[in-house]
Amino acid sequence: MHEIGHFIDGRRIDGTSGRFGEVYNPATGEVQARVALASTDEINAAVASAGAAQPKWAATNPQRRARVMMRFVELLNTNMDKLAEALSREHGKTLPDAKGDVQRGLEVAEFCIGAPHLLKGEYTDSAGPGIDMFSMRQALGVVAGITPFNFPAMIPMWKMCPAIACGNAFILKPSERDPTVPLMLAELMQEAGLPDGILQVVNGDKEAVDAILHHPEIMAVGFVGSTPIAEYIYAKGCAAGKRVQCFGGAKNHMIIMPDADMDQAADALVGAGFGAAGERCMAISVAVPVGEATADLLIEKLIPRVESLKIGPYTGGNDVDFGPVITRASQKRILDLVESGVRAGAELKVDGRGFRMQGYEDGFFVGACLFDRVTPDMDIYREEIFGPVLSTVRAASYQDAIDLTMNNPYGNGTAIYTRDGDTARDFASRINVGMVGVNVPIPVPLAYHTFGGWKKSGFGDLNQHGPDAFRFYTRTKTVTARWPSGIKEGAAFSIPTMD
Ligand code: NAD
Repeated sequence: MHEIGHFIDGRRIDGTSGRFGEVYNPATGEVQARVALASTDEINAAVASAGAAQPKWAATNPQRRARVMMRFVELLNTNMDKLAEALSREHGKTLPDAKGDVQRGLEVAEFCIGAPHLLKGEYTDSAGPGIDMFSMRQALGVVAGITPFNFPAMIPMWKMCPAIACGNAFILKPSERDPTVPLMLAELMQEAGLPDGILQVVNGDKEAVDAILHHPEIMAVGFVGSTPIAEYIYAKGCAAGKRVQCFGGAKNHMIIMPDADMDQAADALVGAGFGAAGERCMAISVAVPVGEATADLLIEKLIPRVESLKIGPYTGGNDVDFGPVITRASQKRILDLVESGVRAGAELKVDGRGFRMQGYEDGFFVGACLFDRVTPDMDIYREEIFGPVLSTVRAASYQDAIDLTMNNPYGNGTAIYTRDGDTARDFASRINVGMVGVNVPIPVPLAYHTFGGWKKSGFGDLNQHGPDAFRFYTRTKTVTARWPSGIKEGAAFSIPTMD
């Protein structure tokens, strides 16, 4: 059995805890590797190595740190196919989608090439008589990131690239479900010239996470994953005095106005609802058509599109739309939720429950499901399904659609389809959701903007990537300086006002 260990102090090492997790090929359902689950001692060793290496890295010119990012970007491009293949094999998503996963992380590395500019401080000449004032942004020291299974390339890069470009040492605890790509990323960083110890990848589960949360030398923790774990990590990390940002689950609504181009809206819903088998935090899981006529037309257009979706393994060629879900437990949870929707009285317009993938009968496949007449009290509305299931909640008016979205506890992404600028502008301005699409179903901001949800989808006050990441991974120091030529005054006892 292939064994996956850790990347500590610049090299791959075996785990020593004696505990392992199973890594599946979701398309076949077979265990393809076992991954070491780190003990507290292994986390401590990674932190010690990171702490020893970090001061020298922080003192390295920012343009030299940026050059490591430049080479890293080149290496990502050169190794794109290999990365995508490893990613799809453990995650199950299609190869083009896996390349997109790498690409959206690569773009954050590209943004980080601008670190010298982004880290520039502020300066006030003559803030007082003969007094200058300046502020600088300094690295925090050792920081950590804990990431989910669904984007095993992109989300680790969202975290590690800005942290490292700022001069920190970074401990990555990736998802134990698909640990290979994060280790490959660490090797590529090393090849790009990153000194030993600046990036550590420690595989593990709750024990490793708790060791990170308790370690006094870890100054900041960035998390992405489900909301209950986000809340746990936010509470524990803050209580331990760390800087913490946690991004959680989602239930993203797309409102379809009567004036929308209904073919465009149906295409958008199918791509955003079923791409990556619905395992995206920005997937649209709830369609909200406004008015009965809009709803009837939308459902009529959705049914053939959903029925004709091509499901298959990542090796199935370019016409596969989506692959299996991540685990058998996930497959069962999704199918149970679909059952609960049927029991609760929602209309299952496309029923994917009986789907079997020929030749891959043990794979974790779920057929595409489309529900109509879902109501907010049903579990299929309240729970994040994280599978290929699209629910339709009919709204009587625009106001009802906006209220539904606003009252949902999650606030990651949302979208509106309309031809009316006034409605779109009102929606974007009033909605209490962090990322909004106007005729764009998955409004994931680009690397130079920031990514973050509201309400139960995000905890902490700065977003991921973009300028916020450079604020999150640094702290400000402000210096007030004067160079008096001899003592001119005696002691001062009032607060200086610099008049
Ligand atoms: P998850 O919460 O199960 O796991 C995320 C990380 O937390 C993993 O590294 C895992 O090892 C660790 N973890 C799991 N259980 C833990 C526990 N009890 N204590 C401490 N650590 C624990 O999430 P997942 O299933 O890997 O990912 C899917 C979830 O992530 C979905 O809810 C999705 O919406 C969310 N997500 C959110 C965003 C965002 O930016 N908001 C992006 C991607 C995914």
